[in-house]
Amino acid sequence: MMIEGQTNVRSLRFGPGAVDRLGKELGRFVVTTMDVPWRLAQPRLGAVPVAVLFVENMEVETLDRQVAGAPEADTVLALGGGQAIDLGKYLAWKRGLRLVTVPTILSVDAFVTPAAGVRRGHRVEYVGQTSPDPLVIDCDLIRTAPAELNIAGVGDLLSIHTACRDWELAARAGRSEFPFRPEDVARARGILADTMARAAEIRACSDEGLRAIVEGYLRVNTICLPAGHYRVEEGSEHYVFYELEERLRRPFIHGWIVGLGVHLMSRLQENRHEEAVAFMDAVGLRYQPADLGIRREDLSACLLNLRRYVSGRSDLWYTVIHERDLTPEWIEAALATLKF
Ligand SMILES: [Zn+2]
Repeated sequence: MMIEGQTNVRSLRFGPGAVDRLGKELGRFVVTTMDVPWRLAQPRLGAVPVAVLFVENMEVETLDRQVAGAPEADTVLALGGGQAIDLGKYLAWKRGLRLVTVPTILSVDAFVTPAAGVRRGHRVEYVGQTSPDPLVIDCDLIRTAPAELNIAGVGDLLSIHTACRDWELAARAGRSEFPFRPEDVARARGILADTMARAAEIRACSDEGLRAIVEGYLRVNTICLPAGHYRVEEGSEHYVFYELEERLRRPFIHGWIVGLGVHLMSRLQENRHEEAVAFMDAVGLRYQPADLGIRREDLSACLLNLRRYVSGRSDLWYTVIHERDLTPEWIEAALATLKF
């Protein structure tokens, strides 16, 4: 797989069996992982690590204690889901070690982003700078994860749909925080179109479907890393999620909650809402409040509070939420189209 342009991924291996005997190339290596992915991958690595660090939680104090206790090593092998990979990034960054990343699930994009997501209190912060070398995508390993969680990986590509419109709205209102680049918007929409064209493959989690998600993420990075921001793939759809997360104080499957955000905000934007929903249904993305365990009264309160919430956070960008009123009538009509 060749990706034109700059990404933080130095090299990539893709295919069934890509993880076999990988351990032989790593020198002394420390693994960051969780129970299930480690049990699956350990017999295939062909070498024994000097230590295995299991994810406890993502609080920065915990991570610093784990880093301080880790032995000397050449390489960090980050193996698992988002948290195992973030722990690996954090360790590689703090110690200045080579990072090899093996995602075992595609539900979050931690495996292609340079910074590690850590927690300070209730907020997630992104720290450090890492480049996997290589990023290893073993399709067989990834297919051991539940299909609906791998399909969740399209959430952060689908968000291009609403995020690009938000950026256009901001530019038109003279409120864009960054120089508006129509060529970036056009390229991002190309990535989304290519993803949407492979809905059946993604639904089936075939090699081609998994490749479509990984390739989509890498291509997004070729836009966002040089630009220094994620404006083309993050906007109002993510802000719905931020409000809900603070309101309900619990985690969500990222791609699912982003899907719910795309459902609501594409409607508010009057932006090809039916097309976005049809894609989510075709690909099998779960986005219904019933899937996410969100009650009607909580989602209603979130939407009523949304403009106040984004206005109160100076780190959030100008989006449709600033210019279209989320009236009780609009909310009522929007929620009537969802399942609780
Ligand atoms: Zn996201």
